[in-house]
Amino acid sequence: MIPTGEATAILPAGNHHSPVKVFGNEKIRATFDDLCLQQAINSRCAPGVTEVVLNPDAHCGYGAPIGCVLASPTHIYPGPVGFDIKCSMSLLQTDVPADAMIDKTIRRELIHAVCRRIPTGMGKGARDVPKSRRVEEKTGVAAMTDGASSDVLAALGVPVAWADRCEDAFHRGHDGSADALRQRLYYLRQGKTFSRFRSTVQQLGSYGGGNHFGECEVVDVVDDNESRQIANVFGLRDQHVAFLSHCGSRGIGHRLASGQFKQLEHKFDQWKIPYPGNDKQLVYAPIGSSEANDYIDDMSLGANFATVNHLLINALVLEAFQEIIPGTTGNLVYFISHNIARQEIVDNRETWVHRKGATRAFPAGHHALKRTPFEHTGHPILLPGNPQAGSSVMVGLPGAKESCYSVNHGAGRALGRRRAIRELDQKQIDASFDSADILSNCRRYPRDEAPAAYKDFEEVLRSVKQAGLAKEVARLRARFVIKD
Ligand code: 5GP
Ligand code: MN
Ligand code: MN
Repeated sequence: MIPTGEATAILPAGNHHSPVKVFGNEKIRATFDDLCLQQAINSRCAPGVTEVVLNPDAHCGYGAPIGCVLASPTHIYPGPVGFDIKCSMSLLQTDVPADAMIDKTIRRELIHAVCRRIPTGMGKGARDVPKSRRVEEKTGVAAMTDGASSDVLAALGVPVAWADRCEDAFHRGHDGSADALRQRLYYLRQGKTFSRFRSTVQQLGSYGGGNHFGECEVVDVVDDNESRQIANVFGLRDQHVAFLSHCGSRGIGHRLASGQFKQLEHKFDQWKIPYPGNDKQLVYAPIGSSEANDYIDDMSLGANFATVNHLLINALVLEAFQEIIPGTTGNLVYFISHNIARQEIVDNRETWVHRKGATRAFPAGHHALKRTPFEHTGHPILLPGNPQAGSSVMVGLPGAKESCYSVNHGAGRALGRRRAIRELDQKQIDASFDSADILSNCRRYPRDEAPAAYKDFEEVLRSVKQAGLAKEVARLRARFVIKD
């Protein structure tokens, strides 16, 4: 048996690498299938990789597991960022008391008010709902090159102060500038990647399909003094309504990522070099090469789009609440990604930390939090579980150093989509939502998104807590869910 939180050797004896670190108790480790473990080993043995962490929500992904962290000072890996560049969570805290959600009619009206403003579904954008925010082409361009700048936020009617509540309000180009991104976007727009750019930027302020969602929550702050103090700094209000959003960079991120995978595979064929673990999904580029520069620029363009997308969604959610409950005020608690590579100091060395379905967890006093609102607490960690088990707001602990300052990004899938559709019973799922008094915009809840399609969230959280990575500050109780 492998105790939670200890570095665990799953590489063959004699291998010169340090092992993959696994965070998960016995029950959780039983959820890791062979392919997921093989992907972790392939990632660990890949060129330039100095550390791989497997979190309790891990399951197989594109080249690397979803639910892992991969660190490399010398190489960039697009697989461990994935197709939905900067898929993220954000949380809006309102001043609406929890009691206001007892009334089903109010909740139904809120669902409609949100859905009239924020499109859901693949390919959907501003033209698909009447009250969305139309985005001028030049604002769409600036969102991609400048991220959540004051100009971009003002143009979209998003509170400018919300930029301070972002893990990263702006992702730079490979040389640290926005100019590199402007040049790269100009180049891409000459090619096929961004034909129909005008309609693509209309996806700003939309959820997309699949696992992305908006969810109305009641906040239960953990009942101890320290949690109450931290919740206060986060801007959480006990027994009040909050709204949790999950989405990424929409079609733009997908197109940028697919273009990069294709281009890098072509280079690997030209160079005649092997793929790590014989898996072409683990293509990479050495930092400093023109290939790495292009990837970093494309990832940043997609990431900036995702940031502005989330902030606009939150502004639209607040507007929806104000339509149904006049006078509602709200503030962004935090916006944090789980599909991104960023430069951080690891063991005194500038390192590219890839978080694939993993969430950053900087504790109090971490140097990167200096002069942010979270310097003395650690930043909020937003962890969706499932609508019935709830979701969690956590904060990192010093022990997170062991996991490359990361935790999981959710419960993680237990059943693949096809298996969930085959095995889960529609009537039972819908009845379980009725008896939990959780409403949804879906007439029939998607079977592949049912709570039973995900791992046991309590068990996942137990692993995180037992390993001393993070502690819970608040639990979020779903009152309604908006899905595709
Ligand atoms: P991703 O799709 O980004 O890999 O996973 C996000 C996580 O969100 C999943 O692991 C799952 O735990 C969680 N999740 C999926 N659907 C919902 C939902 O409707 N509500 C909540 N609260 N969590 C969800
Ligand atoms: Mn996503
Ligand atoms: Mn996601």
